[in-house]
Amino acid sequence: MTNYNNLNSLKTIAKRLARRQRIAHHKALDAIANEFEFPHWKALTAAWRKGWRPDLAKSDALAIATNSGNANTQSCPPIGLGFATKEQGSIDAHNYTIEIDFEVVMYGQGWAICVEQAPSEKPVIERYNDSRHNPILDPAFVSKALAIANTAAEKLRARIASDWPRRSTMPDRQGRVLHPLTGGLSKRWHCLHCDAVSTGAQMAANMWHCPKCSATPIDIFAEPF
Ligand SMILES: [Zn+2]
Repeated sequence: MTNYNNLNSLKTIAKRLARRQRIAHHKALDAIANEFEFPHWKALTAAWRKGWRPDLAKSDALAIATNSGNANTQSCPPIGLGFATKEQGSIDAHNYTIEIDFEVVMYGQGWAICVEQAPSEKPVIERYNDSRHNPILDPAFVSKALAIANTAAEKLRARIASDWPRRSTMPDRQGRVLHPLTGGLSKRWHCLHCDAVSTGAQMAANMWHCPKCSATPIDIFAEPF
């Protein structure tokens, strides 16, 4: 579980922002820093070392993470665009909201759970306050919430895959698959980030995210570097 008063938690939020807006990770870090009125990420980390911590009353980590922050970047439609949904419900009298868009984000008072497209990425559980009454501290609540979030993620994956060419999810006899965004046909795929080489079947099974490091489909290439 990540706590909001933790620098890694801000990095997680930046990663999410980068994915959603398809911007470079360092730009997302700067956007997060801007949210807290720092000129750039480096200034934020320098302040952090001197003891600065985010003021929860003045900012909303989830709003930043889900893209409604004032980042000066143009929002891009998600892969398999146009099916964003938002629903409300409750678990043991704790209300929650679940948003399904480029990923699944479920949240309530003081907590959030994020499940990404790639099955290789573990759900991220975040806690935004230290209240003893925060339901995210209750393992039974967490397991019920995770079940709901994971079911939603499965639906999201099925929906995205249904928008892709069939050859993107089903290798041909030679094991080749078609990249759903860039269109190349190959039986070997290379990750820009970690140098992993994956088969077509592995790419299809992991929603075209790198099976090793979960890099997004735009970072997957037929040619090595
Ligand atoms: Zn990788």
